[in-house]
Amino acid sequence: MNYKNIEYMKKNALILLAGGSGKRFDKKIPKQFKQIGNSNFIDRILKNIISNKKIGIYIIVYKKGYLKETNKIISNYKNKNFKLIEGGNRRQSSSFKALKALKKFNPKKIIIHDACRPFINNDLINNIIKVLDKFDGCAPVIKNVDLARIKRNNKFIEYKSELYLTQTPQGFKYKKILKAHTNFKYIDSRDDIELINNENHKIKFINGNKNNIKITYKEDLNQFKIMNYKKIKYGIGYDIHSFDFSSKSKLKLCGLKINYFPLKGHSDADVGYHALCDSIFGALGIGDIGKIFKNTDKRWKNIDSKFFLEFAKNKIDDFNAEICNIDINFICEKPKISKYSNKMKSNIAKILNINEKQINIKATTNEKIGFIGKGNGIAAESIISISL
Ligand code: ZN
Repeated sequence: MNYKNIEYMKKNALILLAGGSGKRFDKKIPKQFKQIGNSNFIDRILKNIISNKKIGIYIIVYKKGYLKETNKIISNYKNKNFKLIEGGNRRQSSSFKALKALKKFNPKKIIIHDACRPFINNDLINNIIKVLDKFDGCAPVIKNVDLARIKRNNKFIEYKSELYLTQTPQGFKYKKILKAHTNFKYIDSRDDIELINNENHKIKFINGNKNNIKITYKEDLNQFKIMNYKKIKYGIGYDIHSFDFSSKSKLKLCGLKINYFPLKGHSDADVGYHALCDSIFGALGIGDIGKIFKNTDKRWKNIDSKFFLEFAKNKIDDFNAEICNIDINFICEKPKISKYSNKMKSNIAKILNINEKQINIKATTNEKIGFIGKGNGIAAESIISISL
């Protein structure tokens, strides 16, 4: 691998252990690779920590058979130094493999993290790195507040001492942890601090972060969804076009051709797509369709409005945003929209790569009032919510 800069040599390294199979979660795909909305655990972790200037190289220990997926995830982070290592049979052997791979980089300090904790943050990493100035190892712990019981011979016995739950990331002086792994190859430890938690080493346990939860079961996923949805933003769009009663072509609404008079416009006058695009641009805070696609520009003359929606979809991806729901409302006397709404939903869902259930399409008349009420045109409103 061609390393992007020499700076990493003076810096620390981070090992992300993503080699587990996580069978308690999903039988088909390891949880760390499972796409949840726009993200997966590994990607979420990298997003959280990639700006950390104290880390010079990232080792990702991937699960055997998932090299392609791992490469795809790291391709989003171009100017960083990554090294991918295939995982071992157990956590300990994966960790050891990664530590050995770092020999030629010889980092001073090392952070080891499990991919099943997607809410690691830089405060925690920086805190650990600082502790390692004076200690050989550091791990975050959370004081258990629930009444603990131990199961012994099928009996639950009250545990009256203070109980602490250990988290990752854990940090170490590189040479110390490498040596410990070399010496204790076969003890099958469940984390790395266990290997040096003895009188020969200076260890510090620090307060962990309660949000840095471990996602083990499918039920835990809701937590991921909630915490992953950082901000919800809303956008509104409105558009109106008049009918061209002299034209022989057909009406087009949300990409669907309908046997009725077409609407007049510079493009194909798809009032549904136009309102929808405007709501997307609104939610992203990037202006409106009229500004982005000027109706004096010849390139957009008679263009299929699907193009505008595809453009909007690319913008959503640029922002790394995720659509929560869309509600579109048509206002017209004719035609009757309800029988077309399912096909419209399907068109939108395909372009925006979302589920049809996230889309609602409805219509109302204007009670014969005004321009629309007299049957001269169609208006459309759209509201969208997205998470960023
Ligand atoms: Zn329009």
